[in-house]
Amino acid sequence: MTNVARMRPSLLNPLFAPVTSLPGVGPKQDKLLQYLLSRNETPRLVDLLLHLPSQVIDRRARPKIRDAAVGTMVTLEVTVDRHRPPPPRNSRAPYLVYASDDTGDVVLTFFRAKPGYVEKLLPMGEKRYVSGTLQMYEGIPQIVHPDRVLDEEAISKLSGIDPVYPLTEGLALGSLRRAIAQALQKLPSLPEWISPEVLRRCHFPPIAEALNRVHQPVELTDILPDQPFWSRLAFDELLAGQLALALIRAQLRRPAGVRNAGDGHLRNKIIDALPYALTPSQRSAAAAIAEDLKQPVRMLRLLQGDVGSGKTVVALLAAAAVTEVGKQAALMAPTEILARQHIKTIAPLAERAGMRVAILTGREKGKERREIIAQLAEGEIDLLVGTHALIQDDVVFHDLALAIVDEQHRFGVRERLALTSKGEAVDVLVLSATPIPRTLVLTYFGDMDISELREKPAGRQPIDTRAVPMSRIGEVMEGVGRALEAGKLVYWICPLVDESEAEGTEHLTNATKRFESLQKRFGGRVGLVHGQMKGIEKDRVMGQFAAHEIGLLVATTVVEVGVDVPAATIMVIENAERFGLAQLHQLRGRIGRGSEASTCILLYGEPLGEMSKARLKVIRETTDGFRIAEEDLKLRGEGDVLGVRQSGLPGYRIARSEVHGQLITQARDEALRILKDDPKLKGERGEALRCLLYLYERDEAIPLIGAG
Ligand code: ADP
Ligand code: MG
Repeated sequence: MTNVARMRPSLLNPLFAPVTSLPGVGPKQDKLLQYLLSRNETPRLVDLLLHLPSQVIDRRARPKIRDAAVGTMVTLEVTVDRHRPPPPRNSRAPYLVYASDDTGDVVLTFFRAKPGYVEKLLPMGEKRYVSGTLQMYEGIPQIVHPDRVLDEEAISKLSGIDPVYPLTEGLALGSLRRAIAQALQKLPSLPEWISPEVLRRCHFPPIAEALNRVHQPVELTDILPDQPFWSRLAFDELLAGQLALALIRAQLRRPAGVRNAGDGHLRNKIIDALPYALTPSQRSAAAAIAEDLKQPVRMLRLLQGDVGSGKTVVALLAAAAVTEVGKQAALMAPTEILARQHIKTIAPLAERAGMRVAILTGREKGKERREIIAQLAEGEIDLLVGTHALIQDDVVFHDLALAIVDEQHRFGVRERLALTSKGEAVDVLVLSATPIPRTLVLTYFGDMDISELREKPAGRQPIDTRAVPMSRIGEVMEGVGRALEAGKLVYWICPLVDESEAEGTEHLTNATKRFESLQKRFGGRVGLVHGQMKGIEKDRVMGQFAAHEIGLLVATTVVEVGVDVPAATIMVIENAERFGLAQLHQLRGRIGRGSEASTCILLYGEPLGEMSKARLKVIRETTDGFRIAEEDLKLRGEGDVLGVRQSGLPGYRIARSEVHGQLITQARDEALRILKDDPKLKGERGEALRCLLYLYERDEAIPLIGAG
């Protein structure tokens, strides 16, 4: 017996028997079920029970053949008229049975039928109830491999509602149904793990009733995800997930006496050197982080704040707290431009406080890279800023205590873990400009703490945003000319165009072409950055722009993330209708960062579709990133946040975010209550909860708390 099996409550053993222990489930079914249930080994009965129906067939409604809808599951009451076995020389031809009611004929088709099988199933001249998907074949209604054929007596015993399951090629609905029905028979009497309050509040039935009713529905609605039966199972699954996350998190304790924040002397030096005062929410975020760093458990905190809200300095203060106790911090950004932007902001402040910072991206190579890596290993670098070059194997820290991950949604969980595994009990701070829906944060990070930067730094001027059709680009150019005369800094953003795309869509503006035409007009005051340029070259041009050596910067979306030139006050976005809402918001966030009023011009091509019109309207009306994110979700119907489609929850079989979003928070609260009362899951309910963790395969945390 494996360790896990030994620790598993023996009560559950029947459910963990292999499906092949069921009569009628052989090696072939085993393979098919493995595939269907996404398992690499023989599924257990519990896997069958958690495979829920996607539809039901209602056998109570028995349309006449003439009225039955093609393409749907139907049950027909027919008389068997004629059999046509395949001709002897052509055994691949199907066995056909002609049947009828008083409104018409239907053909029942069987491929590769065993001799005698069809004759017995559908005796000539008898009445039978036949269910299956009705198709049209050469103008005649047909059912291929009826899913059920019953006589009067058999049908009178059924509720009349049959579940239909997601299947896989080669697996018959009937045999899956039989296997599930047998598994239900083996269901042991399980203890209740949900508290009486939650059971009452949510109207949840006991688990046995929930499983029985979804697999053997009495009402058509019994199998719907928003009904109590399915919801109960979804809650179980979510509770198991939350409990496991909370248990693992509770184990992430540091060795006694280890604290990752010092006395504040470096932080005070940085704050004193700032040319501005921190906003109240920056101050409280920094304080919350410092508090986390002092705790004996690891920090897992999300710092959310709109573009321009000043996340970088808060991140620096977090790193400084760690430096104060002689440990190291890493800041990982998704792009090189952004990493360099960070180091540019951070380095002067950090150095004045005596912190040693360095940068490591794909650009640092050879000797330079070797030196950085050596210094890092010696503990001579306090804060290392970089791209995913930071997670390469040979990048070894002396004592990494804090991992800061910027623009998290661009990194996968794998990268985040790769960085945190470079130290012991590393604290994690995630920076995000886009609000991540709470349900997703909860499902995957568990109870992550969140700090929000609500206000913009003081003195920011509102941005005047206007939509202007391309036909008026002449006026826009003149306006840009006047702005340049007045010494202002202007961004001119062009959509990304690759060569192949450009051919079909000539109305799109290529950044290079636009650069050339603007250069003709404004001469040496114009610069260009795009994604294909070398990093050094990009930096040089950005530097010229920041230093006012050029006034007009033509750019593709490389300036989208994090670039910070506070003196820039004008932005023209060409073909604005081609950009997504979030992207427009990010782009526009590059202006309005200083104390001068800013203007954003959205140049659009005509005619403008409904969707584009709606998008531009939202951008004109608000600069509130949270509202924009909401409108974006509404307009797109379903979002792609964290790369996860809103409707599905990867790793979850039963819970669905769009239906069970409410339950996620309730499961979180319940998990916290449980661990507060019984952190080792020792009591009677603790035993029940251990069952829950095994049932939903969230038992990885159990060895951590001991066998109880
Ligand atoms: P983001 O949250 O988008 O990463 P940054 O950290 O890049 O924002 O900050 C945007 C700009 O605001 C920077 O120029 C930064 O120096 C400035 N800034 C940050 N905090 C303040 C503040 N409290 N007062 C004034 N300016 C600030
Ligand atoms: Mg930023």
